[in-house]
Amino acid sequence: MLWSESFIHTLKEAPEAAESISHKLMLRASLIRMLVSGVYSYLPLGFKVLKNIENIIREEMDKTGAQEVLLPGLQPQELWVKSGRDEQMGETMIRFTDRRGRKLCLGPTHEEVITDLVKNQVRSYRQLPVTLYQIQTKYRDELRPRFGVMRACEFIMKDAYSFDVDENSLDKNYRKMFAAYETIFKRCGLSFLSTQADCGVMGGSESCEFMVEALSGEDRVVVCPGCNFAKTAEDGLTNCPNCKNKLETKTVIEVGHIFKLGTKYSKTLEAVFAGKSGEIRPIVMGCYGIGVSRLIAAIIEQNYDKNGIIWPREVSPYDLLIIPLNMEHSRIKELAFKLYEDLSGEFNVLLDDRDERPGAKFKDADLIGIPVKIIIGEKNLDEGKLEIVKRRDNIIVAVGKDSAAAQIRKTLEVRDG
Ligand code: ATP
Ligand code: MG
Repeated sequence: MLWSESFIHTLKEAPEAAESISHKLMLRASLIRMLVSGVYSYLPLGFKVLKNIENIIREEMDKTGAQEVLLPGLQPQELWVKSGRDEQMGETMIRFTDRRGRKLCLGPTHEEVITDLVKNQVRSYRQLPVTLYQIQTKYRDELRPRFGVMRACEFIMKDAYSFDVDENSLDKNYRKMFAAYETIFKRCGLSFLSTQADCGVMGGSESCEFMVEALSGEDRVVVCPGCNFAKTAEDGLTNCPNCKNKLETKTVIEVGHIFKLGTKYSKTLEAVFAGKSGEIRPIVMGCYGIGVSRLIAAIIEQNYDKNGIIWPREVSPYDLLIIPLNMEHSRIKELAFKLYEDLSGEFNVLLDDRDERPGAKFKDADLIGIPVKIIIGEKNLDEGKLEIVKRRDNIIVAVGKDSAAAQIRKTLEVRDG
């Protein structure tokens, strides 16, 4: 992509309403724009990051054997009355009546819909286990939308649901998902911890939250400095039950949540199957959520410096940013376009072909955080060289212009986030 033709609109200052680092940077780096409070548009750079995260999640979900579906955002309120969660959801659920008088809502989550779907397809133990997932927009009328996409009223979630014959089989699925979540968050460039969590509105027996440490986190956990024990802070624990250490409190963002639901929904919504000897039993369920759009903010909270975002390699909107320092210099311009063409087949390349001062280009480059920059300037070029600069550590390597493509390939292969 040529910067001059792109829809990238960086801002020198973040609007005053933006409080958290990630919210400010997402606005300034031209990732999102607010429509109304809690509702955001994704601009091309933001949407690229979102798709990269979605692809990581898809790959890891597919590896577990889960199958992707797409469920409706429009749901009948009646299903929620049946499951007993209608009142519990209260004003968080956006409800309305359509022109035929049907009472509908915009799905805040999908346990009800998926249980209803599976109940009508699965009859026998032979059709189990099965795990389905989707990546889809959820609607919640949050009491306090905050921090941009971190707590929004319209946001993107990955939600998976497992259906098993018994607790044993559920346990296997739960562990598989736990492992997949670890891989997903690592690939997103996050350092995270996992807690034993309260089951909250979902109900069930075992659950675990995946938390990312960040200043703007709305949740608190207590962690043991000696072992990997972590728990939500509400439990009032002060010492680690395993090693008696004093627990430390950390501010965190919840990015994922996995639950053993058991038969809570299958009983109320009558999702049953016939076992080996013909006995009728409720399906044993698990559910597994990831805040996909919230992840963008969480990744930024852990990957930035005073100049802007530093994208981990796998989620970055572009692999590479070519910066010719003077577009009026014909050899600089020529080399920039040649590299752009040579590398574009292999990598996602952004070329800053704008007629801007070098200072302005450097500022924008640091702000949008592409992990590798190629800088083409007059002095270096006179010696037949250009510079490869890593955004994270600012390590500069000067290379001969003819070996540049090979060197860039080498730099990009190193997966150091
Ligand atoms: P929270 O406690 O933060 O309100 P939750 O426990 O209600 O979240 P879940 O129903 O477990 O959320 O949803 C799964 C994931 O979706 C959460 O782990 C979180 O990452 C994300 N999520 C939940 N609510 C929002 C929101 N309003 N905006 C963005 N992401 C959200
Ligand atoms: Mg949760």
